[in-house]
Amino acid sequence: MAPPWLTALPQPAALVEWRGNSICFEYWNDPFERYFGEMARGNREQDPERFGRLEAELIGFALSGHQVSRFELERLTTLGTEAFDCTLAWVHHAEPGKSRILISAIDRTADRRVEESLRRELISDALTALPNRTGFGEAIEMILGQEDHADAAQIGVMIIDLMRFSRINEALGTMAGDELILSVAARLKSCMGDEGATVARLGGNEFGVCHVFKNGVTDLMDMAARIKAAIAMPIRLSNLQISINCAIGGALIRISEAEADELVRQAQTAARAAKKSDRLEIYRAGELGAARQRFFLESHLRDTLQQGGLHLLYQPIIDLSDGQVRGFEALARWSHPVLGPISPNDFIPVAEESGLVVQLGRWALHDAMRQLRLWDEALGEPMPVKMNVNLSPIQMARDDVLGTISDALRLNGVNGDRLMIELTESAVVGDPNNCGMLLDALKRSNVAVAMDDFGTGYSNMASLQSLPIDLLKIDRSFVTDMIADPDKLAIVRAILSLAKTLGMRTTAEGIETADVAYKLREMGCDYGQGYYFAKPMGADEAYACWMERRNISTRLAASG
Ligand code: C2E
Ligand code: MG
Ligand code: MG
Repeated sequence: MAPPWLTALPQPAALVEWRGNSICFEYWNDPFERYFGEMARGNREQDPERFGRLEAELIGFALSGHQVSRFELERLTTLGTEAFDCTLAWVHHAEPGKSRILISAIDRTADRRVEESLRRELISDALTALPNRTGFGEAIEMILGQEDHADAAQIGVMIIDLMRFSRINEALGTMAGDELILSVAARLKSCMGDEGATVARLGGNEFGVCHVFKNGVTDLMDMAARIKAAIAMPIRLSNLQISINCAIGGALIRISEAEADELVRQAQTAARAAKKSDRLEIYRAGELGAARQRFFLESHLRDTLQQGGLHLLYQPIIDLSDGQVRGFEALARWSHPVLGPISPNDFIPVAEESGLVVQLGRWALHDAMRQLRLWDEALGEPMPVKMNVNLSPIQMARDDVLGTISDALRLNGVNGDRLMIELTESAVVGDPNNCGMLLDALKRSNVAVAMDDFGTGYSNMASLQSLPIDLLKIDRSFVTDMIADPDKLAIVRAILSLAKTLGMRTTAEGIETADVAYKLREMGCDYGQGYYFAKPMGADEAYACWMERRNISTRLAASG
């Protein structure tokens, strides 16, 4: 007869006799009967694996010399797997000569189900029930973990970004946005057919696809084309028929070399490029390195700007008719204590991308005007030079440029006619109206405007003619070796004649030899800038350069 305390226990429990080298179930209570009765009776057939496990735990415990031991035991049923936490303990004060082990089990099935459903929620997207970002990562890990891949098999990830999604959300409401996401999810799944690819929703308008591609990039491109076509088909949303475009970026690598996070990041980099190029982009090694480098520069640039760690150099602009310095272009320089000198060609794009260029541009204007004031003070009268300051199109779009310029002039007591703003063609092309208003206002303050790097952009002749631009700066890519290249010479000639027609003056950038300087003068170019005359230099050196050239021409004039 089972001891009464055992019968009274609410959880499954049993007493097992240890016979020195084997075990024998002696007594068990009703709950134990319900779950493990067959096992207790020694009937192994029903679930031999679990019976073996229980037996091994009991024997292991008996031989271990421990007082208590815990383990988990599962039980297969027609309704799923049940889980139990089991405890083994010696029962003391037993009948003399008998060694008994008490086994008791606690049913953890309900807890496990809750855990599993929480986990499922954690890895899937609530709207589409597709895997979310975490689930996508796990799915990729799972593919990478499988062992039966061919040596050359490649794993590919595609990131699909729906264009204009936020506009649709705003215009038609989030319900319509949800409907759109659901249709796209269904279309994506149906494009995969029976290929067994994983489709996931990674965020608002971002989907991911992961698959093993036997024929590498050709297969990936095929799939991308199918996806693009499926998404492009018109979708009905609240009585409206809309079509949606998507940007697709892919990354592909041999399975043996793949790493899940890296692969997703690479595909995201490609998708960002695809948004700009409007075609499928596939990640190439090195691009992400460049992205990381940009991010790294951005965080350093932010600190440097705050700490006033940038400085300006000044490159003389020479009047080609008499060799005098008529102005300086202020060029930003960044010398990082650890990284060394960083070129503006590297940090200006980073500043533009991050918006830091607004702060940078304000600083450059103020610092350049301050320098003019210092030179004026040194000379005891206004120095007869203009200061050219570059203005990024991003700053033009985001900042109160006019306010910044008039502050910089006013605070340093400098007249507007001493300043020349250098714009690039993209500023004009990007937003001709805004640009027109700004230039008109600058004109009223006597500030001159130059079109920088002229010839490399896509200026619209009509807007060029209608804008109050004073000067064209011919890009140095046409100038430096124009003598040896008839095409470049022809371009320079054409720009000079265009400027003449439009009543604009001209500066040639990138003059590196005397030949080029003389040729340009002969062709009627007004000003020159380049290493032949001087490299960008510090403020004192720039002042000395101006003084020296003035003295030379005074001497020449005096000697007749
Ligand atoms: P940019 O405005 O066209 O400036 C002229 C660039 O040509 C300068 O490069 C100058 O050092 C270089 N250069 C001048 N003469 C020669 C020459 O004879 N041969 C060669 N090979 N190069 C010559 P830098 O200083 O590296 O600046 C590059 C660009 O960065 C500038 O082109 C400008 O677009 C931008 N930048 C520089 N400072 C600023 C700034 O304060 N604000 C903004 N928005 N952009 C800036
Ligand atoms: Mg410039
Ligand atoms: Mg330029």
